[in-house]
Amino acid sequence: MSAHWRPDPNAPDPEMPGQKLQMASYIPVRLNDPCLCGSGKAYRDCCRLQRYWYPICPNPGLNSYSLLAPQSATVEGVASPALRERLMGDIRLQCTEDLPDRGSWIYWGDPALDDQYGTLCFGDIELKQDRTLLVTAMSDVRMRMLLDLLNEVAADFVAPPKMHYDSVLAIDKRTGKQVQVPPPTRTTRLKRHRR
Ligand SMILES: [Zn+2]
Repeated sequence: MSAHWRPDPNAPDPEMPGQKLQMASYIPVRLNDPCLCGSGKAYRDCCRLQRYWYPICPNPGLNSYSLLAPQSATVEGVASPALRERLMGDIRLQCTEDLPDRGSWIYWGDPALDDQYGTLCFGDIELKQDRTLLVTAMSDVRMRMLLDLLNEVAADFVAPPKMHYDSVLAIDKRTGKQVQVPPPTRTTRLKRHRR
């Protein structure tokens, strides 16, 4: 799974908010290849053993993949104007909404990576009217990078966030049906396959 941002040619301001395109593509993997989930194990000994096909997403930098684990981090009571100024000043973030009382940014990474579909997006940061900061990401690796970035640019305003994990849309290998399952974690995966 990947998300791409590109300007919207029909909008009054093509750059803001722009268009976001979500894409799923299939990557073949051989039994002895390193597993695409980023575990470092061979596919044969890793995700092949799971009951579901779990989607993966590229990591910022595109050097590896992670299992999809949609999640969000919420921080309440942030000092909005000061935080907004810091977010605006960071080259890794692209602003897609800039209103007096709220704003949103896409995490592009540095350097931003372009392909034929647009610029790759690795997560979102939203500053809401009620002084709440909402960070969303599709994997643990991406969330870690976003929280590190916030720590780096705004450690003085951003308290430890409340984390929330969403379920993942996976495909049951036996029935081929789409099912909502909890996000895969290293520990639950190990338990499930211990014999
Ligand atoms: Zn794997």
